[in-house]
Formats: sequence, C-alpha cells, structure tokens
Amino acid sequence: MTIQTSICPRCGQPTEEGLCPQCRAADVRLLTCQPRVTAVYCPVCDSQKRGKTWSDLQMPREDLIAELAVSATSIHEDAKDIRVTVRSQETGPNRTTCTVEVEATMYGVPVKETCETEIIWQKESCDRCSRISGGYYEGIVQVRATNRKINAYEREVAARIAEQVEESLQQSGDRFSFISDLQDTKDGVDITVGTQHLGLEISRMITGALGGRFTTHPKLVGEKEGRALYRITYSIRLPFYQKGDVVVARGGYFEVREIDGQRLRVFDLQNGTARTLTEDEVERLIGNVREAESALVVFTQPGAVGLMDPKTYQTKEVNAVPWTFPVEGQPIRVLRDEVEDRLVIVG
Ligand SMILES: [Zn+2]
Ligand SMILES: [Zn+2]
Repeated sequence: MTIQTSICPRCGQPTEEGLCPQCRAADVRLLTCQPRVTAVYCPVCDSQKRGKTWSDLQMPREDLIAELAVSATSIHEDAKDIRVTVRSQETGPNRTTCTVEVEATMYGVPVKETCETEIIWQKESCDRCSRISGGYYEGIVQVRATNRKINAYEREVAARIAEQVEESLQQSGDRFSFISDLQDTKDGVDITVGTQHLGLEISRMITGALGGRFTTHPKLVGEKEGRALYRITYSIRLPFYQKGDVVVARGGYFEVREIDGQRLRVFDLQNGTARTLTEDEVERLIGNVREAESALVVFTQPGAVGLMDPKTYQTKEVNAVPWTFPVEGQPIRVLRDEVEDRLVIVG
C-alpha cells in the first residue's frame, strides 16, 4: 500500500504538488502601484489631456480620481474576482493621495492588499482656451432686423439659441465650436464663433425660430498651414413682422403665425380661420400677443362680449369671437388698438 501525498515544503500541509495554494498566494504580490501619476488639466475649462489629446471632462471629479489611481495600479494576472476601492485625500493644492485597495482570489485563496499612489495635477492651457485667448475666430454672426430695431425678446432668443448650439456641438466632441464673444450692440447681437460650422448652425437655428434670412460673406484673412483662412460674416435679417404680431388688414385684425418671405401666414382674430396676407396688404401693426393685457369679461351675450378696460375700468363691447370662449368673471387676453380705441381679444 502506497500513499500518494505531497507535502508543501514550506508549511507542511498536504498539497497536490509544490507549494500549497496558501503559500503560493502569500508568495506573489497581488498589487503594485506607480508612486505617482500626472494628470494635465486646463484651469479655465477643466478639460483633461490624455496623451496629446484634450477632451472635455464628462465625469465627476471623484470618478476621474479613481480612474487615474487605477491607471497607476497593476494587479497580478492570476487574480480573479477582483474588487477595487479607491480612497482619496487632497494633500496639497495640486496633489491627491490615493489608497487603492484590491480584494481578489489567488489560486482559490482570498487575498487583500492596498497600495498608495499620488496624483499630481498639472495646469496647462488647453487647445481651445489657447485659441480663445489668442483671439482666434472663424466668423461672426450678426443678428439684425429689417427696417426696425431688434427687440429684447429677439436678443434673448438669439443669445439663448447661440449658447444651446455651442453646448450641443461641444458635447458631440466639436471642441473648437466655441463662442468667444456674445455682444449686445446698438443694432443687434454679434456672436463671435470659433468654427464656421457653429456660425452656420446658429444662423440656421435663429432664422428657424425667429424667421428671416441670412447671407454669408467670406473674407480672406490669411493662410494657416498652407490653407487659405477665411472669416465669414453671417448676416441675419429678421423679418419686419414677427410671430405674434397683430396687424390690421382688410378691415380686420390678424395674428401673424409664420413669416415666409413677403407672405404672412395669419390667424383671423375675428372668425378664427387661417389665411395668408402679403406684406403690402398690412395697414398697420397694433402690437404683439406677448404684450397682451388681461381684461375681465363682464358679460357675454349672443354676438357680443363686454370687457372691462384694464386701464380705464370702463366696459367696452366687442364682437363675439367664435374661436374662444370668454367666461363672465374670468380674465381674457387682449391687445389695445390705440388708433381705434378698441380692445382686440387675442385669446
Ligand atoms: Zn504551504
Ligand atoms: Zn480650456
């Protein structure tokens, strides 16, 4: 009778051959950490540099710290069921000390080790911020109105659209689509853009929202790396009439819903139908529904509605409008036609 057993030469436990799993696991280092790792970031916009490439940081800072700490760590290739936790502490204005703890199994034996690494934060102006501070730009979007001054609402919409387009292009990875200047001028809004793509998108979106047209005017400004460098002026002309304007034409009142070149798609504020007017047919403008006042409905009767003028508190009678339902005792929105001294229900 023979007994086929090996004995671990280190601890004397029975084993299949050589060292027992416990002694093998104890013999290898689960974990090694580089003592430090350098992270380059832009102090202005928080972009991160990986190799030679800059990108916008899309993750919370603690996730970035964990990622950097893990990148400085190597785990033994025989480890299985690995769980990593990173604890970090700011140890200086540009230093973060990280403790990386790894739990795993080695040769079926549970093991746990920790190591430390330090992140050195290095400031560097990113490619985008360098362009901006160097005054680089590829175009200017100029928002103006036709034969009138651009109003506060249009200024606000234009600025908001410009910022939204900038953000969405940058989120899609187009780093140089920045707005380096957005200025309210006497005549309108001037938006200085880092790429022609951004200028074009902003012009499309603004005319889409506010109507009007834009034309592009390129100007050769020099050469960069053998390529002609153009700056483009995107000249936006908002239409004379705007969405929500109420105009007098053919003896009635119409709310402008859309502007298509010289043609206005309007809503008839008397009978509630849609129709088209040419600009020539418009006699005058009484206001915009955004500036509507609130008038109390005093009475309703077939064919007529009594409104309390919010300025004079006198009751004024207007024709009933079949497209809305004035309710006695409730307010309704009106515009004032100063010329005719009349209130016009706009709903
Ligand atoms: Zn052993
Ligand atoms: Zn930057």
